[in-house]
Amino acid sequence: MTERAADAASRHADLVARISRANRLYYEDDAPEIEDAEYDALFRELVELERDHPELATSDSPTNRVGGTPSAAFSDVRHRRPMLSLGNAFDHDELRAFDARARRALGLPVAPEPAPGLAYVAELKIDGLAVSLRYERGRFVQGATRGDGTTGEDVTANLRTVASIPQRLSEPVSLEARGEVFIPRAEFARINREREAAGLPLYANARNSGAGSLRQIDPTITASRKLSAWIYQLVEDDATRPVARQSAALDRLEALGFPVNPERAPGLDIEGVIAFTERWREARHGLSYETDGVVVKVDDFALQDRLGMVSRAPRWAIAYKFPPEQVVTVLEDIVPYVGRTGTLTPVAHLRPVKVAGSTVARATLHNVDEVRRKDLRIGDTVILQKAGDVIPEVVGPVLDRRDGTERTFEMPAACPVCGTDVVRDEGAVRYYCPNPACPARVAQEYAHFLGRAGMDIEGAGWVVLEQLLQRGLIRSRGDIFRLTIDQLESLDRFARKSAENLAASIERARRRPLARIVNALGIPQVGEATAIDLATWIAGRIPPGDDEPMGGTAGWFGRVAGALPDIDEAQFAEVPGIGPTVAASLRAYFTADATRGVLADLVEAGIEPHRPEPQRAAAGGPLTGRTLVVTGTLVGYDRASAEAAIRAAGGKVAGSVSARTDYVVAGANAGSKLARAEQLGVAVLDETAFRRLLDGTIPVDRSTDEQ
Ligand code: NAD
Repeated sequence: MTERAADAASRHADLVARISRANRLYYEDDAPEIEDAEYDALFRELVELERDHPELATSDSPTNRVGGTPSAAFSDVRHRRPMLSLGNAFDHDELRAFDARARRALGLPVAPEPAPGLAYVAELKIDGLAVSLRYERGRFVQGATRGDGTTGEDVTANLRTVASIPQRLSEPVSLEARGEVFIPRAEFARINREREAAGLPLYANARNSGAGSLRQIDPTITASRKLSAWIYQLVEDDATRPVARQSAALDRLEALGFPVNPERAPGLDIEGVIAFTERWREARHGLSYETDGVVVKVDDFALQDRLGMVSRAPRWAIAYKFPPEQVVTVLEDIVPYVGRTGTLTPVAHLRPVKVAGSTVARATLHNVDEVRRKDLRIGDTVILQKAGDVIPEVVGPVLDRRDGTERTFEMPAACPVCGTDVVRDEGAVRYYCPNPACPARVAQEYAHFLGRAGMDIEGAGWVVLEQLLQRGLIRSRGDIFRLTIDQLESLDRFARKSAENLAASIERARRRPLARIVNALGIPQVGEATAIDLATWIAGRIPPGDDEPMGGTAGWFGRVAGALPDIDEAQFAEVPGIGPTVAASLRAYFTADATRGVLADLVEAGIEPHRPEPQRAAAGGPLTGRTLVVTGTLVGYDRASAEAAIRAAGGKVAGSVSARTDYVVAGANAGSKLARAEQLGVAVLDETAFRRLLDGTIPVDRSTDEQ
């Protein structure tokens, strides 16, 4: 045997052992110890290994087997027709490849040519336990689990306790139907609440507790858990006119009284199937039960028969799995990053991995205490999670993957960028670099200044900023507004056009609301709300002058910049919304050597901000007490002006949608926030409705009826 073949054989043996163990724990004990995504990755590796080394693919390989051995606690039921598994597709291209395979096997043209004649039904894939139900003359007589695909377990008594499974059908026919038994989300939550109250360990996963609940020796235990079912396959039917298609079979099952999932779509081509998977990827979180994918089936039974099956799965169907929201990867390093205020944040450097549809290589670990609490070590195999549009999170280490080579993370004694001694204040969580001139801090300050919460200069991202700093083209914030098109064109990957575009967006940033500029400065303790409070107050104190010039020290902004260093702490503390700590921070900022010239520099560079309305949002505005979220692109507003309009009408602006959100204002290309709103039932406004709400044309509480 060559070395490579020996390696393959030993990897094969290792995979078979691990997958067999996982199968036993999952199918027989209903208590898996690895995540489904990890299982799927191992299984796929085994499939690929056997494809490259066919001699390893023996008949007892997990790739040729279905499920697990039936438990001796139940009587055996031999399936009249085997209960198969399904092949998997993990992305859209794999769905297209499935379509191409099926077409080739049927002698049909393969897309992108016009490809008629092959219609699919898309159904949600229910994450539960597969069962087969036998009816004689319309009466339920026997129910079985899938078991090893040939022989299942007799769970008739248990299935009789599942309310949605009919005891009698609407016609006196004899047939076999198959489907999935599961625990609805709300019931799963209820069971866990009860377990918590009783001091019992909580169930981790609805699929396995559902399977465990059905496979109880004592049916009264099954009955105490309100299981449910969706039926998706009609196997034998002695009706006089048998159906010819899966879509018709689903309709017939429904007519007979079976619970059939309404979220099914017949008559799709493969692109239609892909659109269906995309629609449900987010929307599924709003369902009352769990689905882990979409099952795609060739609709026509005659074509299904022609396609036949491979060892463990039919060739006419495939299970598309939604991108996992939890995956396993390796924590290759933990690296402290220096932030704008000097805080050192440990960041996980991960082996890049796809999770919930995007590739993740970095995740913040927040602080050292969090690293300790989760017991994360460099070199650990870790679980990474990303649900919906949420920021990726390292959930924790997979402890039994440790081999002793992992290292604990220590915060360095010196700043990794400038070498200054790192400080941790007494009793505080954060470590920080105290050097205000630390290049990392400075770069972050500029990034904040240019970023969306600041001057919002489109096209001035990290890559550009780093070059500008490194080449010494900017040494102060004002310098950004002094850049010439020639200088911009000299940057890497810049051409005349891109330089002109960036210059134009810098030009636009010369006029921003004053509050934005204050926020952009990154004064410690001063966020968006304080910036608005301060800008409004100062605008009240410094009214516009008669015939004042647009810019310069004699202009309005020049006078504001000149006045701020003379305002003392006590005066700042009188500003509505500003307390003593913030007042001290403001006073320190506007008088410290390093920062007191910042505004004057901006004045000199020709910044002329919008003056805020002197009065803050009237308490009686039409949106008083309401919280709104803005998402997508609006025609008449940019993000900042939409938010300002909400505040001016007395409303609050939030960054993410929750049950406390009153309205989501959705423009073009609204994404996950809109989906979340729909899922939570939060009212969604288009731009017209939003305008009418703002100007009071429609009263707030009726606005949704008007859409
Ligand atoms: P599968 O889950 O990939 O898909 C096949 C099954 O889907 C069918 O047998 C059927 O029961 C079910 N299904 C749900 N809705 C359906 C519908 N509308 N139409 C048709 N079928 C539908 O295959 P499997 O063989 O049941 O299980 C393999 C999967 O189980 C793995 O991919 C993994 O996610 C999980 N698993 C996990 C572990 C673990 O240790 N974590 C171990 C073994 C299996």
